[in-house]
Amino acid sequence: MRGVVMYTAGDVRVEEREDPKIIEPTDAIVKLSATCICGSDLWPYRGVEPVDHTLMGHEYVGVVEEVGPEVKNVRAGDFVVGSFVISDNTCEICRAGFQSKCVHAEFVHAGIGTQAEKARIPYADGTLVATPGQPDPELIPALLAASDVLGTGWFAAVAAEAGPGRTVAVVGDGAVGLMAVLAAKQLGAERIIAMSRHPERQKLARYYGATDIVEERGEAGVERIKELTDGLGAHSVVEAVGTQESFMQAVGATRGGGYLGYVGVNYDVRIPGIQLFFAGIHTLGGPAPVRRFLPELIQLIWDRKIDPGKVFDLTLPLEQAPEGYKAMDERRATKVLLTL
Ligand SMILES: [Zn+2]
Ligand SMILES: [Zn+2]
Repeated sequence: MRGVVMYTAGDVRVEEREDPKIIEPTDAIVKLSATCICGSDLWPYRGVEPVDHTLMGHEYVGVVEEVGPEVKNVRAGDFVVGSFVISDNTCEICRAGFQSKCVHAEFVHAGIGTQAEKARIPYADGTLVATPGQPDPELIPALLAASDVLGTGWFAAVAAEAGPGRTVAVVGDGAVGLMAVLAAKQLGAERIIAMSRHPERQKLARYYGATDIVEERGEAGVERIKELTDGLGAHSVVEAVGTQESFMQAVGATRGGGYLGYVGVNYDVRIPGIQLFFAGIHTLGGPAPVRRFLPELIQLIWDRKIDPGKVFDLTLPLEQAPEGYKAMDERRATKVLLTL
């Protein structure tokens, strides 16, 4: 089968490799219907995260081809959506809703690689969720978004306690930020402030429910949020970038006693303890427990109540994955869907 391998930073190739096989009795083999490139794949691409002939990809939807003898919840022929973190969904941590910290957690991007025709998914019962039936092809991008960006944006909005009567500020206009806007709207937030300078992304943020757009960044961005919230700051702030400036902007934009949900992968952020101390805010973040939200998100997509598939603004065949990486690196594309 064909699959994407990143040799070194910036060197992405599509290569022939062996078809995956069932190894553990709890595994499933999924024939992928579509896959995509993540903003976080740019970390190794840019040399920030180590990479050495790494199998790429962690977002996936497809049809189960084969299951191990202990798999009970999904079977061959089912169309499934999976989280980017493997989880058993039965341990104490999973039952508390933090499947991304499962005692059996394993990142799909570390060794599995779903930018490929097929993938072996461990703990299939805990990781995969079957859709109510075979989806219309037009629903596939939306279901694929649920695998990471939608689930991550949703978790961020939940972590930020977005809801009725709340003002939500979203720092970051990438795919996850846009999905956090969608989530805040679905969760009933009264006002949603999207921070973006990019006209196309501002348009999409408004489509997903943003009521205000703030173009200022850093201190000026914090000031603008305060102006819009009677000097208090937002109840709920989502950080979906992961840079020093964006993180401190998110901390500064959160009102005393408010909630910050942070999901931007933040390699280089240094948070001055004293600033966090005096901020007096709740914080919750990290790799999103997407599995917790998948049944609900799949149903919303199935019923056509949400349309997260619009975050994909470039579609290429798997063979052209190198061009997809380049387009995202150069910010010519927000998120690239790879067809199979
Ligand atoms: Zn991702
Ligand atoms: Zn678990």
